[in-house]
Amino acid sequence: MNKARRPLIAGNWKMNHGGANACNLASAVKRTTAEFDKVDVVVCPPFTAIAWVAEELRGSAVQVGAQNVHPKDSGAFTGEVSASMLLDAGARWVILGHSERRAMFGETDTLVAEKTRVALDVGLRPIVCVGELLEEREKGQTLDVVKRQLNAFASILADKPGVGAIAYEPVWAIGTGKTAGPAEAQEVHAMIRARLREISAEVAEKTRILYGGSMKASNAEGLLACEDVDGGLIGGASLKAEDFAGIALAGQKLA
Ligand code: PEP
Repeated sequence: MNKARRPLIAGNWKMNHGGANACNLASAVKRTTAEFDKVDVVVCPPFTAIAWVAEELRGSAVQVGAQNVHPKDSGAFTGEVSASMLLDAGARWVILGHSERRAMFGETDTLVAEKTRVALDVGLRPIVCVGELLEEREKGQTLDVVKRQLNAFASILADKPGVGAIAYEPVWAIGTGKTAGPAEAQEVHAMIRARLREISAEVAEKTRILYGGSMKASNAEGLLACEDVDGGLIGGASLKAEDFAGIALAGQKLA
């Protein structure tokens, strides 16, 4: 099988491994994915470990990302970190609009769009998350919810086709062990691709759409084989290098 786009496998470490452990995990990811030349591998540690992990990964193909950014470049924003600071620290990617940030930190579609704009302007590659709650899926609102979230930032991504990525993460599948089946994932990914095509053929062809939600080595191949699934955003399984490498291997085989 030849995927239309180079698979992107990104690990979201969340609030885990903020110090020396991060270097050990990064080093293990570097070692276990060293042979994979057909996938892009990204790890997203907490802010405090970004510079260390970037140093640990210097010279390897594994790239570093952050999990959030503030939309302003500097100033009186206690506790926040700007896109240029992340870039300075060695980050090349940033996860935006994760459902945990939307639910726990009140991030709106408008704020996620603002962050997407700033990340792209500064030279960070955003991975922007969308996804429905369980009750929204049960009410048959999945496609409407995801389209609303997507519409907030899609035209911003279109300014630099292929630089950013989108992650479809059904909220009910995150950290629960429940995964959307390949057909369920593909339905949403196809809608996202179709919406991007309305903006431009180029952005639709170049934008990688990742699946996230309890992805692991055992289910990765089925999900990544879907036409419009171009990679994965991985939480729990990214905290063990062997598990994460197993997912990257599935991408490598399908690429
Ligand atoms: C995530 O938090 O982005 C995620 C997909 O988590 P998990 O893989 O643990 O479901």
